[in-house]
Amino acid sequence: MTSPNRPEGQSSPQSRLPRPLPLPLRRVRVTGVRSLTPRMVRVTLGDPSLAGASLARPDAQVKLFFPRAGQAEPVLPTPDPDGDVMRWYAAYGAIPEERRPWMRSFTVRAHDPAAGTVDIDFLLHGGEEDGPATGWARRARPGDVLGMFGPSDHFAAPVDPGAGDWALLVADACALPALATVAEALPPGRRALAFVRVADPAERQPLPTPGDLTVHWVYGDGPAGDESLVAAVRSAAEGFPAGAPYVWLAGEAGTVRALRRHLVEERGVDRRAIDFAGYWRRRLTQDDAPTAEDLAEARERLAMRAG
Ligand SMILES: Cc1cc2nc3c(=O)[nH]c(=O)nc-3n(C[C@H](O)[C@H](O)[C@H](O)COP(=O)(O)OP(=O)(O)OC[C@H]3O[C@@H](n4cnc5c(N)ncnc54)[C@H](O)[C@@H]3O)c2cc1C
Repeated sequence: MTSPNRPEGQSSPQSRLPRPLPLPLRRVRVTGVRSLTPRMVRVTLGDPSLAGASLARPDAQVKLFFPRAGQAEPVLPTPDPDGDVMRWYAAYGAIPEERRPWMRSFTVRAHDPAAGTVDIDFLLHGGEEDGPATGWARRARPGDVLGMFGPSDHFAAPVDPGAGDWALLVADACALPALATVAEALPPGRRALAFVRVADPAERQPLPTPGDLTVHWVYGDGPAGDESLVAAVRSAAEGFPAGAPYVWLAGEAGTVRALRRHLVEERGVDRRAIDFAGYWRRRLTQDDAPTAEDLAEARERLAMRAG
């Protein structure tokens, strides 16, 4: 898992690994669009390079590139032939701002190697103003083109939902697609608890899993909804299963921070057993610079991986 506004690999130990060539940057075309719930739309994206090898793994992340207003397709950076991700990112930054595509992080909800497609589930979160990704998803039609970078284990560490004696999974609505992939990867019969915050009961989705999963749906929007999510986890903690949990947390950055602090400081969970990511930040877009807290967290993540 990575921070919301850093390209995968920019400061991760994975970036020092030998790099796969070529960089996983491709143009993808919308082949299908369907509503899953009133606020969640599934967009199927296809490209011949997505056929064959399996990309399906839990919590697989991609960067999507969205066209600017007036562009039919996003302008994509020219990947460096040596596959150096930093040079790729510099190439992205070198595109003049008025032509540079919007870059946002999403989860591969499913991969169909036979069809050469991936499914991405977009939460239509916009209030008064949609961000570029949400606005695009509202209007997405077959034939529309995006850029896609990833997924690659070199830029985002793989997660292991089978670690620990049982699993605790916590997500808000935009992290529900990722939580669904983690639930699908639980070992057969593994005890697991999920806490998922969505706007209302119409936003619930089935979470098929080989594990023994109990899902607690928490309803609400905005800061109050996120406080209810933290409260739900806090009040359930007394009844957690015995043993050491594997924990997976994703959602609004401050909420993820509060949950992590609670689990480590008040429940004694080993911080190394927690995979966590702030997927978005209240009142900030993914283009905004990292806050001091984001940077501190990135440093801590690096230190944990190194040691
Ligand atoms: C690794 C990773 C995987 C992700 N996977 C998915 C996924 O599969 N599906 C998905 O829908 N999202 C996913 N996200 C979250 C998504 O990248 C962000 O919500 C992103 O900000 C959306 O871009 P935007 O252009 O719509 O909004 P931005 O331009 O980034 O932000 C515009 C405004 O909307 C607010 N905002 C942003 N996201 C949310 C939100 N979720 N809820 C409420 N307000 C919000 C911001 O605070 C800002 O005020 C993922 C994020 C990460 C880091």
